Amino acid sequence: MQDSNEHTASYYAATRNDTADYPALLGAHRCDVAIVGAGFTGVSTALYLAERGYDVAILESYRVGWGASGRNGGQLIDGFVDVGKIGKRFGLAAADMAYRMGLECREIVVNRIEQYAIDCDLKMRFLDLALRPADMRQFEEEIASKRRMNYPHDMRLVQAAEISEYIGSDRYIGGLVNAGNGHLHPLNLCIGEARAAVNLGAKIFEQSRVTRIRHGQKPVVETADGSINADKVVLAGNAYLGRTEPKLYGTIIPAGSYIIATEPLTDSMAEAVLPQDMACCDQRSALDYFRLSADRRLLFGGLCNYSGRVPSDITASLRPKMLKVFPQLGGARIDYEWGGNIAISLNRVPQFGRIEGNTYYAQGYSGHGVAPTHLAGKMLADVVCGDSEQFDVFSRVRHMRVPGGKWFANPAMALGMLYYRLKEIL
Ligand SMILES: Cc1cc2nc3c(=O)[nH]c(=O)nc-3n(C[C@H](O)[C@H](O)[C@H](O)COP(=O)(O)OP(=O)(O)OC[C@H]3O[C@@H](n4cnc5c(N)ncnc54)[C@H](O)[C@@H]3O)c2cc1C
Repeated sequence: MQDSNEHTASYYAATRNDTADYPALLGAHRCDVAIVGAGFTGVSTALYLAERGYDVAILESYRVGWGASGRNGGQLIDGFVDVGKIGKRFGLAAADMAYRMGLECREIVVNRIEQYAIDCDLKMRFLDLALRPADMRQFEEEIASKRRMNYPHDMRLVQAAEISEYIGSDRYIGGLVNAGNGHLHPLNLCIGEARAAVNLGAKIFEQSRVTRIRHGQKPVVETADGSINADKVVLAGNAYLGRTEPKLYGTIIPAGSYIIATEPLTDSMAEAVLPQDMACCDQRSALDYFRLSADRRLLFGGLCNYSGRVPSDITASLRPKMLKVFPQLGGARIDYEWGGNIAISLNRVPQFGRIEGNTYYAQGYSGHGVAPTHLAGKMLADVVCGDSEQFDVFSRVRHMRVPGGKWFANPAMALGMLYYRLKEIL
């Protein structure tokens, strides 16, 4: 499934509203900035640079949005890094900056959709769900701390007595509604942003995997059938970059996450399941996340797999979890199942850096990337243009290499690693 040169067989690929392909790279080319990877990070960078008049080219192994950006849960959640953790480690000013960046990344997405009239089913309002009293206490603290920082969006604690107004499940003891977050069709967002960049002069080459980067004063990116000579290079391959740039190999843990989509539900069933059409997730590290699509399917995601092996039957693994939340969907057919790779950094802070002076990268959004990738694109474009203020702050954060390289053979070990690393870093 994941090795196909075309989009994975997801609900998103089946409902993308722009099916035009871009050509493959052939022969020798030149541009100001060559970008490796056409997910949100690469496309967002390209759009910022094209808006500023740069001659930019994106090289994508497969199709625009083929990776996590075109496969994810579509949950638009603000926040860039854990503000509390940053505050403890770097002080109040850094925490304030991290908080503002968290708001900014979500604003970028909403503004882009409006500015470029991207049809991607954006709906605002998000419901965090509590399984345990500790989750409710965490929600109360979150509301209090965000109010102290003048958070601009409405937030509301939902008690057990009123949770049925929001979700047709007796699994949860309460929730937190945030009007600033929401959900969208991620592949249509990514493709729409790519189209906007192309309309401003950016070039996109699909089916053009970068096999080697020759660093130097004028770096060259090479594919099987062509090359691009550039002033600067941006690496935006995230969990799929593999060994393209040996210096980045082993800096993140790729982890698989999976989603199933039911058949379109009747109006009354959709209303019974999620009466307010909000995206939802619970608070566990291996969390369930779900929402309705524009055509009223339930998209239900979860599982977390560090082995690199796609479950042999995604539906068989995920459907019981969905039925635990919504037993009333027992008769609903599953029309789509798919998965994708997220890039986890050991301290859960996105990684930014330079290689050889004129090659820049951003990666490691740790499962929460729809909004952060958009700010990363701005930071990458800024540093390319000579403004490195935000980029430099993050490129100084210390990151650990992942022992053992790519995939963990043993998921328990991977989880244990993450737990202890989280405690000791930042
Ligand atoms: C199943 C799933 C559910 C998720 N749900 C959510 C969610 O609900 N909300 C949220 O905020 N985040 C979610 N995420 C995370 C989010 O999707 C990612 O953080 C984000 O999309 C990363 O974007 P990216 O552009 O950095 O990487 P990607 O979208 O993975 O793009 C990288 C691209 O680089 C290309 N590439 C790699 N190497 C090369 C090369 N050598 N040459 C050319 N091209 C190359 C790949 O083909 C790929 O298309 C989820 C992720 C998954 C997998």
